[in-house]
Amino acid sequence: MSDANEPTGNAHQAWQRALDEGRFLIQRCGGCAQAVFQPRELCPHCGHGRLAFEAPAGTGTVYATTVVRRKPAEGGDYNVALIDLDEGCRLMSRVEGVPPAEVRIGQRVAARVQVSKDGKGLVLFDPLTAATATPAGAA
Ligand SMILES: [Zn+2]
Repeated sequence: MSDANEPTGNAHQAWQRALDEGRFLIQRCGGCAQAVFQPRELCPHCGHGRLAFEAPAGTGTVYATTVVRRKPAEGGDYNVALIDLDEGCRLMSRVEGVPPAEVRIGQRVAARVQVSKDGKGLVLFDPLTAATATPAGAA
């Protein structure tokens, strides 16, 4: 049996294609209206088969954080964090823009997409500061 948390099939491929174009998407269930991540074919909450992609606000809160130690020659230490998006789903990513050990549980962060030289998109997060805490488009 496959793990329910493992990315599967066409939904994940479609998601990665959008990400490679610089667009970060999550899914929303057409049955129970809950936000879904990782991309899936079936809703993990209610089993509904119609999950629509949408762009999240990108803001979220650090749920858990750790530092992965690496030799300086290999790029140095980096942060790995679980982020709860404001839409209600959780993803694993990195928080950058602060020293890896200074990321805090409960810290507000904002997503951005980084596309590598080989064209692979990756979702990363930066700390939300007072200057950037107002979501784009807010009155
Ligand atoms: Zn559902």
